Order: sequence, then structure tokens, then C-alpha cells
Amino acid sequence: MITSKRRTKIVATLGPSSETPEVLDRMIAAGVNVVRLNFSHGTAEDHRMRAENVRAAAKKHGVIVGILADMQGPKIRIGQFKHRHTLLTPGQHFIIDAELALDAGNDERVGLTYKQLLHDVEAGARLLLNDGLIVMDVDEIVGSEIRCTVIIGGELSNNKGINRAGGGLSAAALTEKDKEDIKTACAIEADYIAISFPRNGADMEYARKLVRAAGGHAALVAKVERAEAVEDDNLKSIMEASDVVMVARGDLGVEIGDAAVPPMQKKMLRMAPKYNCPVIVATQMMESMCENPIPTRAEVNDVANAVIDGADAVMLSGESAAGKYPVEAVMAMDRTCLETEKHRIFPAQSTRDPRFPPHSINECIARSVMDASRMMPIKAIVTFTQSGSTALYMSRHLGDVPIYALTPEPKTLGKLALYRNVIPIILDIQYQNATDAPQATEDAKQLMLKRGIVEEDDLIAMTMGTPMGQAGATNMMKIVRAGDRWSPNS
Ligand code: PGA
Ligand code: MN
Repeated sequence: MITSKRRTKIVATLGPSSETPEVLDRMIAAGVNVVRLNFSHGTAEDHRMRAENVRAAAKKHGVIVGILADMQGPKIRIGQFKHRHTLLTPGQHFIIDAELALDAGNDERVGLTYKQLLHDVEAGARLLLNDGLIVMDVDEIVGSEIRCTVIIGGELSNNKGINRAGGGLSAAALTEKDKEDIKTACAIEADYIAISFPRNGADMEYARKLVRAAGGHAALVAKVERAEAVEDDNLKSIMEASDVVMVARGDLGVEIGDAAVPPMQKKMLRMAPKYNCPVIVATQMMESMCENPIPTRAEVNDVANAVIDGADAVMLSGESAAGKYPVEAVMAMDRTCLETEKHRIFPAQSTRDPRFPPHSINECIARSVMDASRMMPIKAIVTFTQSGSTALYMSRHLGDVPIYALTPEPKTLGKLALYRNVIPIILDIQYQNATDAPQATEDAKQLMLKRGIVEEDDLIAMTMGTPMGQAGATNMMKIVRAGDRWSPNS
């Protein structure tokens, strides 16, 4: 069994470099907490197989690994070229033609997957292709043609993405393909479903309806990657309507400009606790490891800063999906997080911050435990949880004490895997009665002792709800000494 002291979690994307059970096994051994399945590639059967392999590897190592199904979303793409690509030079004219057959691109024009783009842009708009590597400005719209002048040239090949600088595209967040893929994600019991390019909270609410209609229990991740999404009101409504947010720096950087991404990342990390919203920082964190076995100093810094700013998770995309060193990339993130976490330079998130009042009894109990862990030398926090919410509330408030989340609910385990400083543990017993609470306390003490997490004299802070076994019913905290025995007569 692997036990890691790392508090910040690692999300790794599967792809050609990491799909074989052998590499996946090594990545999980190296500490991946959540695996991201990219629904832009592969069939329903591929995703089912991948999920199965992830679960088998996690079981083998005795760890809980969550599964995040990432929907493609309305990524607008050009069509294909007859000769696979064209070379664009600055100053040349180029046409994006909504009526051209998708496979008929040439040196003068190329087709488009989203015809509506024609109506979403006007003369003067700036289009960014291939993640911003190629830039062109729109001169005029004539019939089905978006006529452009190339500003930054280079090789443009089949199916590359198009973004509009500043956002403003009308595409809905959920495409027909996404709606089908949500069903697949629910069928394979994904713990998280990520929605690409949501504009606002309403897009996330709609996605949640689709997930529930498909019988899924997944929590919803909003990928913040669209200019509209970071406008104040939209960002708030997205955080309200989502379970998790991702700083999706790839597309976001294209839409709002690369220089605007770091302050936005910090803003999101500062805002999120108010909404009890975990944050994943994503894209290009260790990008040079696609080619090299070690990261650059700047990349190590990037990961470390996300840790210091309180991210729940840091994510690998191309590095683990298509790079040459997927396992080394996980190891590089792991050691960077561990070392950074040693230095206690995190901004203390006060449990008494009046800006973040608790919304419920269990949130209040969760925070009281975090307070207690600062006043007493508590070695471990144990929370009996059904939905995982108490562990979530605890983990919003940065503390030094690890939070062991004990749940009998398999659907909760994979979700807990993403939360900072939370260690999910499956309970093979479902406590039910008010009278079960003393028994649960004793069992938890034994478990902590047996695993070597605490010694006889150590203090454990615990939360539970009576009667036990109901979601959101936490109403009690206690501080116990691990070695003290309870007896009904004492
Ligand atoms: P993607 O999303 O990798 O699916 O494009 C993340 C991002 O845009 O950063
Ligand atoms: Mn993206």
C-alpha cells in the first residue's frame, strides 16, 4: 500500500504515452490521485477500458484514484488540407470558408467545423489558431468566406483549433457529442465530469441536469477557459454552480492573452474558498517534460506557486498523455509539492473570516475541528462522511493536520481523492444508529493505530453525525486520545 504525505493532489491525463497498463501502473505508484480521460480522443469503448485499467491499477496499489471525464466542448476547429498542411507567411491573405468541404483545404483557404463562426466575427476581429501560434486578423466577411490577413505565420495543419481573441463566440458549452459523452462518462461511473468552455453558471446547471438524467453521480468541474467566463458575475455564478473549477490555462491564455493568466489564476484561488470550490491548476505545468526527463526551474516554480496559493490539485496534460516522460513528470510534481509543503508558507485561510460564513451545521463543525487543530497538538483528523462534504469543508481551511475521510460510500471515495490534504479511506461497515457512535470512535482509533498514523498518547479530532449514515448530518466533534478505551460503564 502506498501512503503519501503529499497534501496537494496530482491529476494526470491519459493518452498514447500512458495508456498501457504498465506505464499507468508506474504513474499510480508515483502518486497520481485523479486520472483525466480526455473525451476529445477515443470511443466509448476506449474510455470504458481506460477506466477499468485505472481502477485495476489503483486496487493493486491499495490507493483511491478518482476518474475525471473531460468533455471536448465546442472547440472550434479548421478542416483538413488536401496536403495535410499549409505554410502561412505574415501579410499573406487566407480564407476560412464555412462552405468549403472539410477535407478540401489548400494554400488559399480551409473549411471549418462551426459554420456559425461566420456570424460571430467581424472585420477587425483577431483569430488565433493552434493555441495562438498562428494569428490572423479578419479583413471582411464575404458570403461564406472569412477573409483574413496573416499576422503571425507558420505551419498550419489539419484540425487545428480556432479561438477568437477576447472571446464572444456564440457556441453553446455543450455540443451533441458532449451530450452523448456525458452518458458514457456516467456509465463508467466517472467521479468528475469536466465541462469545457462554460460561459456562466447556467451552462454548468444545464450540464448537471444532463448528468443526473443519465443517472450519473459525478461532481462537475468547470473549465474556466473562455473570456466571458472570467467576467466577475460569470465567474461567481460558475463557482456557485460547480463543484470544482479548473484554471484551464491553455485556451484561457489564448482568449484573454497569456499575460492575463497569472493574475486570473491567483484571483480564482483567492475566490474559490468562499464557494467551497476546489481548484485544479492545469496546462503546461511541466510542458518541457514532453521532451526532457527533468522540468525547467520555471516549471518547478509554477507548480510550487500553485501549491503556495492553495490549489487542490496540479494537472499534467500533454506531459503524461503524449510526452516522452509521463512517469518522471508525476515524480517531478510529487517532489515539488512535497518540498514546497514543508515550508508552511501558505496563506492561512482563517476559519473565522467574516467574508466566508459557514452555510450549514456540518460546515461549522468542520471549521471548529480546524480551529481545534491549531489549539491542541492534534495528530490526525478523522471524519465519518457520506457525501464527503465535511471533508471538503475542512480542506478549504489550510491546516497542518491530515484529514482522514472515512466513508462506506464508494461513490464518495474518488471525489475525496481530489481534495487538498484529504486521505480517503473506505469503511467496510455502515454505522446507522445513534448508539453506533461510540463503536465508530473505537474503530477509528484502532484503524489509526493499526496504520501507524497515531500512537497511544496522540490526540485525534473526530467528526460524525448522529444518527450515523446520513449525508450532510455531521453535528458532533470530539477530541480523543488514541489509546484510551471507552467502556459502557465508565
Ligand atoms: P484542454 O483544456 O486541454 O482540454 O484544451 C485545458 C486548457 O485549455 O487549458
Ligand atoms: Mn481547453
